Amino acid sequence: MKADVAADSPDLRRVIALAESYPGISTQLHRIQGATRSVTEVYLLGPTGVVPSAPFEEFESVEKVVRVTQSFRAIGRHDGGLEAVGFQYNGVHISQDTFHVFAGLCAVDNREHVETTFATLKELGIATTRAGAYKPRSSPYDFQGLGAACLPWVFELAGKHGIRIVAMEVTHEDHIGEILRALEATGRPTGVMLQIGTRNAQNFELLKAVGQQTELPVLFKRGMGITLEESLNACEYVASSGNRKIVFCLRGMKTNLGDPHRNFVDFAHVPVVKRLTRLPVGVDPSHSVGRRTAGPDGLLDIFHVTAQGVIAGANMVLVDVHPRPERALCDGPQALLLEELPAFVEDVAIVRQAYEQRRQRRG
Ligand code: PEP
Ligand code: MN
Repeated sequence: MKADVAADSPDLRRVIALAESYPGISTQLHRIQGATRSVTEVYLLGPTGVVPSAPFEEFESVEKVVRVTQSFRAIGRHDGGLEAVGFQYNGVHISQDTFHVFAGLCAVDNREHVETTFATLKELGIATTRAGAYKPRSSPYDFQGLGAACLPWVFELAGKHGIRIVAMEVTHEDHIGEILRALEATGRPTGVMLQIGTRNAQNFELLKAVGQQTELPVLFKRGMGITLEESLNACEYVASSGNRKIVFCLRGMKTNLGDPHRNFVDFAHVPVVKRLTRLPVGVDPSHSVGRRTAGPDGLLDIFHVTAQGVIAGANMVLVDVHPRPERALCDGPQALLLEELPAFVEDVAIVRQAYEQRRQRRG
């Protein structure tokens, strides 16, 4: 429906009635709060193959009739039929056109490391970070994260240093409530983006849970051992549950063919996901590469693969940093040093500018 069509408009009721007059067709209403405008979408479910588009196109208040071609109907673009939708959260605009670096700790370990990291981000003018409190580890004997106990002081420190969004993984639906309660208790000094890790990419109950709340945006990590189509369908659980504030993040695929990197870097899929879906697309170079090796040119592999994602139009870079990686309790070997962050940010800016130029040349 056109952007100004109200939920109780007679035209909308007529569209629904017409849709439901076809045999076996039921409808669902979805309201999408975009960054610049909000629209109501009417989904036709059932045997839609025999439903013609023309009678719907005649309605004055219908903006567009789109025949859905993929099963991920809410997040899909459907052969270019739908435009991308971004979102605004806690003062930050995220869409297929914007660009943000989320640099931070893989796992929160202590107050000093969090404070030093946030202070460095502030100096660099970065207001988006990552800080894991609930860590899904390969071994039960490894550090599992500080959990809910660290949330109040992490949020307070984030607010103190002007951080607007903290990307934070949740591994159980209880964590959503814990995060919301800690935000409330601390007076909402910052915002949180709920991260679904690659290991939970097909944890459908968790996906429904993060989708059923619409306050916090969701960072969905591609499943590391499933097809892109399967990941997109999994991500659809979030959107179909009601939450459209989603970033789809590439983070490499698990296959020995990518050795010696931790995962096979899949950032060639940035434009693919932007074409197939309406979602902003992120890249995580740290979990893709997994190590601090450098090329003969002196640039870390992490810099190189970040550049590959950014030059392809990525909207977000999620990167691990740590003040003392040798002391990190999780993923120290892949963390950039805080001293390396200014060079990283500069490198990324060069590449983003190159992407903008490439894009402009295409008109
Ligand atoms: C992470 O970002 O901390 C993480 C565990 O990533 P992934 O789920 O992509 O492995
Ligand atoms: Mn990690």
